[in-house]
Amino acid sequence: MAEHESLEFGKADFVLLDQVTMEDFMANLKLRFERGRIYTYIGEVIVSVNPYRSMELYGKEMIESYKGRELYERPPHLYAIADAAYKAMKRRAKDTCIVISGESGAGKTEASKYIMQYIAAITNPTQREEVERVKNVLLKSNCVLEAFGNAKTNRNDNSSRFGKYMDINFDFKGDPTGGHINNYLLEKSRVLKQQQGERNFHSFYQLLLGAPDATLERLYLRRDPALYNFTSEGSNNNLVINDKSNYKTVVESLKVIGFSSKEVDSIYSILAAILHLGNMRFAVQDDSVVIEDDDLLVYIADLTCCNPENVRKTFLYRTMATGGGDVIEKGHSVKEASYGKDACAKAVYERLFCWIVGRINSVIEVKDYDARIHGKNTVIGVLDIYGFEIFDNNSFEQFCINYCNEKLQQLFIELILRQEQNEYQREGIEWQHIEYFNNQIIVDLVEQPHKGIISILDEACLTVGDVTDTIFLESMNSKLGRHPHYTSRKLSTADKSMAFNRDFRIKHYAGNVTYSVEGFLDKNKDTLFQDFKRLLYNSKDPVLREMWPDGQLSISEVTKRPLTAATLFKNSMIALVENLACKVSALVPINDTTPTSIMKLALQAIKLFISAT
Ligand code: ADP
Ligand code: MG
Repeated sequence: MAEHESLEFGKADFVLLDQVTMEDFMANLKLRFERGRIYTYIGEVIVSVNPYRSMELYGKEMIESYKGRELYERPPHLYAIADAAYKAMKRRAKDTCIVISGESGAGKTEASKYIMQYIAAITNPTQREEVERVKNVLLKSNCVLEAFGNAKTNRNDNSSRFGKYMDINFDFKGDPTGGHINNYLLEKSRVLKQQQGERNFHSFYQLLLGAPDATLERLYLRRDPALYNFTSEGSNNNLVINDKSNYKTVVESLKVIGFSSKEVDSIYSILAAILHLGNMRFAVQDDSVVIEDDDLLVYIADLTCCNPENVRKTFLYRTMATGGGDVIEKGHSVKEASYGKDACAKAVYERLFCWIVGRINSVIEVKDYDARIHGKNTVIGVLDIYGFEIFDNNSFEQFCINYCNEKLQQLFIELILRQEQNEYQREGIEWQHIEYFNNQIIVDLVEQPHKGIISILDEACLTVGDVTDTIFLESMNSKLGRHPHYTSRKLSTADKSMAFNRDFRIKHYAGNVTYSVEGFLDKNKDTLFQDFKRLLYNSKDPVLREMWPDGQLSISEVTKRPLTAATLFKNSMIALVENLACKVSALVPINDTTPTSIMKLALQAIKLFISAT
């Protein structure tokens, strides 16, 4: 250990603890934190504590002092982890990845940015133009992704509401030549509604508070988030966030990345259309359902470059295929019209977000055909994904996020065990069995075909007739009643912390979470009537049109059983974990200072490490 890591700073590596207990772990973390050491290793894993203030830990000189050093030469730092990943990639031409996991607000996204800055700083010494361009786009993409994918929550003013996995491609010289961003499950329900004290995605407030008057006029908007249903809750919570200057930065970044002015205009027109959608109401007039405020219809039609009468029809009617192969038009009730409008607002935002990510990818994608064919191309991946979430009210989104964390825990176990096993083999020691809690049983509870929660949920969604969230709960109760990690009020009648016919509980590796089934079916089906897709596909705005390729299909061509939201998410998680598992990995779980779920993970990691060495 380096001399500047003397014991006055505690143990720089948790593996050196005399006793592996939560108390000792916390005491060491606390001591180090008080001495300004926010980073501590667990072998090759790094634990960090969010300082919530600027530390003189980053920047040019610091980067220089970590460049090319070995992990243990200098005090623990993200830069050392980034350097280790880079060296493994360069020396051994191996793909590597850095997984960042931790609770909301713990500092994952900031860490991912420091890692990228480090990599950008140590590469391309000869300043090749194309490489500089790629680096610049990679760095600039962060503020765009944050504008559209982040929001103020009660835990974090700049909370990522999507998962992000970014691959950076390197050539044989070790310089970045391209990249690719994968995004996972945007929390699109936030477009409609936010919890008290929270905000909608930053992009809306940036537009309303930062755009020039002329732009707002073109978009039929007024400079006041309180006027729009989708932003009114958040309008009181703007104090700490500089939306006005961020608007400028985002527009600048979009241009640097390569978005045309036409594309930038389209992006903001779409955002404005969503805000107007939020204010749309339906009423019954002379026995038929009408839109209350025709001005909104005109604005939306103009902003989306659609014919106003087509827009009206789409909001009020639904085309349906009859059993006999005919197509009929059925008028919506007020409730159905309102449901359709909300689904449309969410879907338009989600598609916009995915389109922006896709557009950034098209700019940084490795175009050098040779580099791909001749395998001179290696990657470093950085995964910044939502940590384990327990709220007062946990719904479908938390269910997906926590399932994702169970999958990452599996990856974690596998990586540590494999790393250790390799070491054993290198040193010719016989492999010993290691005692640890394997959370595969919880992963199975969620994802197992036919038996798991997602399957039961999908089954409920596919059943015709009036299937309710409560029926889904009943079905879980009868199929999972004996599972050691599942319970509900009906199964544990004495447990008053759960409500009858509403709650179920999963014993996650990181703790118990009670979920309310309310809205599970709707969110999983994620229905958007084909009429909306067709409307937007027929828009005269080529940008909007590009987001709706599935709008080409006529009603009779539409598959009856599209994959559900949970199944799509499950598939993307399985693919992600497979992708990560074949890479050499450094892991970075990030903590805050109260002993919580993530601490258990850290403690488990230490035990794994110690029992293996
Ligand atoms: P997460 O992505 O884990 O939800 P963020 O990375 O957005 O959390 O961090 C939340 C906030 O914590 C940041 O906006 C910043 O104010 C603060 N923060 C995080 N990491 C650091 C750090 N290394 N130094 C100083 N402040 C930090
Ligand atoms: Mg984040």
